[in-house]
Amino acid sequence: MNNLLKELELKDKKALVLGAGKSGIASAKFLAQRGAVVALHDKKQIAEWTEEARSLKNENVGLIDGQIPSWLLDQIDLVVISPGVPTGTIPARYVDRKDGEVIGEVELAYRFLKGRIVGITGSNGKTTTTTLIGEILKNAGIETQVGGNIGTPLISLAETSTDKTWTVCELSSFQLETIRDFRPNVAVALNVTPNHLDRYDLFSDYAAAKHRLFMNQTADDTAILNADDEITANWADGLKAKTTVFSVKKELDEGLFLRGRNLICRTSGEEKILTTRDEIFLRGLHNVENVLASFAAGLACGASPDSMRETVKNFKGVEHRIEFITEIEGVKFYNDSKATSVDATQKALEALAEEDGKVILILGGRGKNAPYAPLADLIKENVRKLVLIGEDAGNIENQLKDLAEIVRAESVPDAVLKGFQAAEKNDSVLLAPACASFDMFKGFEERGIVFKKAVYSFKGRLDRSEAETQSA
Ligand code: ADP
Repeated sequence: MNNLLKELELKDKKALVLGAGKSGIASAKFLAQRGAVVALHDKKQIAEWTEEARSLKNENVGLIDGQIPSWLLDQIDLVVISPGVPTGTIPARYVDRKDGEVIGEVELAYRFLKGRIVGITGSNGKTTTTTLIGEILKNAGIETQVGGNIGTPLISLAETSTDKTWTVCELSSFQLETIRDFRPNVAVALNVTPNHLDRYDLFSDYAAAKHRLFMNQTADDTAILNADDEITANWADGLKAKTTVFSVKKELDEGLFLRGRNLICRTSGEEKILTTRDEIFLRGLHNVENVLASFAAGLACGASPDSMRETVKNFKGVEHRIEFITEIEGVKFYNDSKATSVDATQKALEALAEEDGKVILILGGRGKNAPYAPLADLIKENVRKLVLIGEDAGNIENQLKDLAEIVRAESVPDAVLKGFQAAEKNDSVLLAPACASFDMFKGFEERGIVFKKAVYSFKGRLDRSEAETQSA
C-alpha cells in the first residue's frame, strides 16, 4: 500500500466532515483524535442529530448545520464527504482550489488502514458476499475484519488493522465516487443493474461509479467479475489487474462456473470441484453467483479450497435475505424483508421455485412506482396465494389480480396467520414485499423482525393449543 499517503499528517489540519451519519461521525472522531481541527456539518438542524453526533462537541468537534459558511470553506485543508451527501454539495469554487482535498470516508480510511483489502461492489448481493468472504478468510486462519457499507465504517477499522490484516469491505457506488487512491488488492464486481437512478442521471454514470473500484489496481492485484452480467462482463479487457471471471450460465475456459450441481474452478486446463449446490445452504441461483465470487476472492487471498468448502456449507446467510425462519406443520417460513424491489422479489421467487410445494407470497408496503408485471410468470407458475399488506396493496391487487388468489392482511402478524391458513404441506410462506417498509416500519430490518416474531409467536400458540388438546 502507499506508505507515503498512509503517513499523512493530520495534526492541525483543518478538516470539514459533511454528513453527520455513521460514517461522518466516525471520520470526525478519527480526525479529531489525531489532532486535526474538525467541523462536522449536516444540513439537518443540530437538534435533530443523533445523540452520538451531538456528543462530538465534547471531543473538540465543531458542529455546523444548515448552509456551510463560505468563509469556513476557504480555510479548510480537507473535506471528507459522507456517502449520503451528493458530491455536488461542495461548491465548485472549493473543489477547484489546488490546496484543498475532497475525499470520502473510504479514501480517508484507505490512507490509514494497514494490510490488504478486498473490496466488493454490485447492485445486489454485496452484503451477502462481503459477509461470506469475511467468514471464508477468518476460517482459513487469516486475520480478517469486515466493514464499509455493510455497517462498521472503514475508518473505525484503521486502528485495529495490522500488516497481516485483510479488510473486507462492502462498497456502494456512492462511496466509490469519492475515492482517489483507494486500491483494493482484490476487487469484486457482482452485477450492475438499474438502481439509484434518482441520484444518477444516466445508467452509465452509475456503472462508471462502480467501475472506479478497479481504477487504481495494478498487475499485482486481482479483479473478479461476473461474466453473466452485461456490464461487468465487458470490463475485463480494460483492466490492469489479473482478472478472474465467474458464471452460473456457461462453462468458462478459465474461471469459476456451475456445471450441473457442481461449482468448478478451471485454471490452465485443470478443473477442481469447489463444492456442490447440495452443500450450499443459501437458496437460489443468485446465491450461487455470490458463492462463486466468494470462492474466487478466497483463492486470491490464499484460503484453501477445503476450508472454503466447509465455510460455505455452514454459512446460513445474512438476516432478512431469504432467511429461513422455521417450519410449522410442514410449512416453511422465509423472511426476505430486504426484497424492497420487484427485482429482489423475483430472485426470491426463482429461488423458492426450486423447492417442493408452492409459495404463499406476502407483498406490499410503500410502493416504488415500479410495475409488478415482471412477477407475473413466477406468480402464475408457483404462487398459491398472494397476501397483500401496506399502502400499495390496492395497486398491487389491480396489477396482479388475475394471476393468483388474493387476500388482504391488516398487519404483518395477520399476514402470517393468513399465509399459514392458505398453505398446504411443503409450501413456503415468503415475506418478499417488493416495496419499501416506511409506511408501517422504520426500515426493512424492523419489518423482518416483526415478521419473525409473529411467526414464532404463532408457532408457540399452535404448540400450546396442541399441548392443551393432548392433556384434556
Ligand atoms: P446488497 O447489499 O447489494 O443490497 P444483499 O446481499 O443485501 O445485497 O441482498 C439484497 C437483495 O438482493 C436480497 O433480497 C437478495 O435476494 C438479492 N440478491 C442477493 N444476491 C444477489 C445477486 N447476486 N444477484 C441478484 N440479486 C441478489
